[in-house]
Amino acid sequence: MTTISAEPTILSKLFINGDFVDARSGETFATSNPATEEKIADVASAGAEDVDLAARAARAQLEPGSEWQKMKPRDRAKVMWKLADMLSSRAAEIGRIETLDNGKPIFESQFVDTPAAAECLYYFAGWSGKVTGETIPIQEGAFTYTLREPVGVVGAITPWNFPLMLAVWKIAPALACGNTVVIKPASNTSLSLLKFAEYARECGLPAGVLNVIPGRGSVVGNAMVDHPGIDAIAFTGSTAVGRGLMERAAKTLKKVTLELGGKSPNVVFADADLEAAARGALNAIFYGKGEVCAAGSRLLVEDSVHDELMAKVIDRAGKMVAGDPLHPKTRLGAIVSREQMDNVMKYIEVGKAEGAKVVAGGERADIGTGKGYFVKPTIFDDVDTSMRIAREEIFGPVLATIRFKDADDAVAKANATVYGLAAAVWTRDISKAHRVVRAIKAGTVWVNSYNLYDPALPFGGFKESGFGRDQGRDALEKYTQTKSVWVSL
Ligand code: NAP
Repeated sequence: MTTISAEPTILSKLFINGDFVDARSGETFATSNPATEEKIADVASAGAEDVDLAARAARAQLEPGSEWQKMKPRDRAKVMWKLADMLSSRAAEIGRIETLDNGKPIFESQFVDTPAAAECLYYFAGWSGKVTGETIPIQEGAFTYTLREPVGVVGAITPWNFPLMLAVWKIAPALACGNTVVIKPASNTSLSLLKFAEYARECGLPAGVLNVIPGRGSVVGNAMVDHPGIDAIAFTGSTAVGRGLMERAAKTLKKVTLELGGKSPNVVFADADLEAAARGALNAIFYGKGEVCAAGSRLLVEDSVHDELMAKVIDRAGKMVAGDPLHPKTRLGAIVSREQMDNVMKYIEVGKAEGAKVVAGGERADIGTGKGYFVKPTIFDDVDTSMRIAREEIFGPVLATIRFKDADDAVAKANATVYGLAAAVWTRDISKAHRVVRAIKAGTVWVNSYNLYDPALPFGGFKESGFGRDQGRDALEKYTQTKSVWVSL
């Protein structure tokens, strides 16, 4: 445990069976603050042995007579509700940890992500005990029905862009359905989830129900996929890693669900409220430093309003200045790591080399400290759908602007991607909005808005953005399996 004066206590050990413990190997890895480049802590690095211990602890709570099994669903819901209350009341503490580790503005971590995680827990607490089977009349002489049973031990693997929130998107429905969880956060950002585990213990979640095991992706991920005591893998991360996980899981035929990358189109028609669309375009790509799976990273603009819209977007982007993530007014924080910043800068060079025009940003930003991984909000114009910056996920504050001539052209260009996570349509024509919504192949489509989420609304991808849904009633599918019962009378 590392304590920084006047800072929240940073927990950096593995959380297994209700205790914070070192990795069996004793190995650690450093995690640092991307805004200052200073080390925050050495985090215990789990290996296969630790995965085994965590999986066994989680399994024990599924055995008949265990504390978790004996709890009524309503009592499970009470623990989840208490945890949501605790997250809400300690948002400043856990939000600060998230900001230190991830570089996102405190405005986001404390006032958006943490409340969203709490709301997710409240929502799924409400489902506990309400996920039921049905009686299905088939024939005389038979009583036939289904049971919705938990899948068992859920192995979750989560990314670094919304470390706490996306982990809770998996933990909350899994617990509501009576499962237990072994979760591996991203190495760049393990700290908020370890703090969450401490809260969960304080709220009375029985030891072993939730286990948090930071460690190297391939090491922990492979051990989780191969472990016979883990029943399902719920993954959020890149398409490349998701594909590898699925291939590996073929050996054990483990149930896998994947929430993957995106290259989401944000389509602005000439009849849209252009002021709102410009605001929306910025929110779509620069919220969360563009490290958002659903980021509107392709701005599709109807020819006739191209210049007018771009003037507004460029003007707003110029006013968006990177700042100290801990300052309450900062809206653009630090890129999560040097590696990711280098990746973003590489794509900016690729865009220039491909002939796209930089109309805003295009370089690193300095917040006056000479430190930190900051990148200016960057906008490319004159982008063609064949360019790499129009096809590949950059996962940073980089927008590719593409023109279109009519609705058919817009739909064709919106769908010119292997991804299908999200999209938006800006128009005052309600019929056109609905027609385009239907034609776009994506798991979420916003109309005259962007980046709106609610725990009741399913979220997930089409195409190479994955399958399975987080959030909403659909998420319960991931964490339950149906048993059919035939009783001959
Ligand atoms: P990533 O590199 O795929 O990593 C995601 C998680 O997988 C991390 O915990 C990582 O651990 C782990 N991992 C890495 N290699 C692994 C392997 N061989 N086997 C098993 N696990 C492995 O993704 P990221 O860079 O953290 O996150 C960005 C990506 O996530 C983007 O593509 C983004 O679009 C996607 N994303 C999707 C959604 C959605 O809901 N669809 C939401 C958010 C983000 P380490 O950190 O230790 O490498």
